[in-house]
Amino acid sequence: MTRLVMKFGGTSVATLDRIKRVAKRVGREVANGHEVIVIVSAMSGKTNELVGWVNETSPFYDAREYDAVVSSGENVTAGLMALTLQEMDIPARSWQGWQVPVLTDGAHGAARILDIPTANLDAKFAEGMKVAVIAGFQGISPEGRIATLGRGGSDTTAVAFAAAHKAVRCDIYTDVDGVYTTDPRISSKARKLERIAFEEMLELASLGAKVLQTRSVELAMRFKVKLRVLSSFDEYDETAGTLVCDEEEIMESKAVAGVAYSRDEAKVTLISVADKPGIAAAIFGPLADAGVNVDMIVQNISEEGRTDMTFSCPVDQVSRADRAMSDAKAAGKIDYTELLADKEVAKVSVVGIGMRSHAGVAARMFQSLRDENINIKVITTSEIKISVLIERKYMELAVQALHDCFELEKA
Ligand code: ASP
Ligand code: MG
Repeated sequence: MTRLVMKFGGTSVATLDRIKRVAKRVGREVANGHEVIVIVSAMSGKTNELVGWVNETSPFYDAREYDAVVSSGENVTAGLMALTLQEMDIPARSWQGWQVPVLTDGAHGAARILDIPTANLDAKFAEGMKVAVIAGFQGISPEGRIATLGRGGSDTTAVAFAAAHKAVRCDIYTDVDGVYTTDPRISSKARKLERIAFEEMLELASLGAKVLQTRSVELAMRFKVKLRVLSSFDEYDETAGTLVCDEEEIMESKAVAGVAYSRDEAKVTLISVADKPGIAAAIFGPLADAGVNVDMIVQNISEEGRTDMTFSCPVDQVSRADRAMSDAKAAGKIDYTELLADKEVAKVSVVGIGMRSHAGVAARMFQSLRDENINIKVITTSEIKISVLIERKYMELAVQALHDCFELEKA
């Protein structure tokens, strides 16, 4: 018997009819001879509603109670899914995180999975259970409290179960039919990818392609879990969706696999900071402590021992960054004349493992932006990614131009 993990996102279980529909798909995999572990999200919109209730009740809430409330959406769908399968004469039962158990750390609201012992599920499968339906997004902390994994966490639950149970594959059913070369709402030429490497998916996921929770991709990469992203609305066939896999399993590697973007960025510059050892630590330490997610960093050339330091962060974190910097200045830890914030920028990135072996990708990218008269404000590169910060109003144009330039519409 092989085990298969199937995860259904909120839109796939949004109504009783949809639960019935996806239960049939589970039934087919049981008929194919699999023992199936189904991971469910809350019905779409439910988690938002629960989060809203918590905020309304207690603005500075106790994170353990937040978790007690927001984890409940998944409990409902897990039970309903088990009942639906039972109505189809498929031996199934539901499991909440603590029952499995899914052991997490104590970081409520963003907990990490430490371990998923398999003994309890193994025993039930041995007794003839065909489907274990697991409430996603939740586990139990060392103190025995319910802990949730952060928004989108059911993806991570699914991959963690696939790793723990050495599943043949982890199918993530969602409302899109796969991973695209870019956002189809921005470029009509966006093409569904048949395969994408873990590392590429990781970059695309963290750059704002919201198909999979970033942590789930990290986990899949570490444990080499074959992930497939597919739609629960389309008719099923063996080649449906996009396979997220090891780069060895990808034959051709084009220089660029996809274009990602992040719309709501800001560029912050500290004017005239001392150019001396420890200055970066003195700036980025307090920013990190203040919870500012700094991404790109550029230090200017120095003149008479002073330099400008530029970084990017999400636009809604600018005031937090400003406060952290003025506090550090008041405490005598850093010195600068002015903090400039450009809140009208967006980040556009090209991603591809093929970049390692193809030269000239950056040059082509810059040429293409030049042809559209788009000014680049900041550039950063990694082995498989080149990112630029540009004026936000040109973001769509840049994405389209780069998609054309690297001919991503062609397989
Ligand atoms: N229901 C949770 C959320 O909306 C977890 C998930 O669906 O992955 O974030
Ligand atoms: Mg999701």
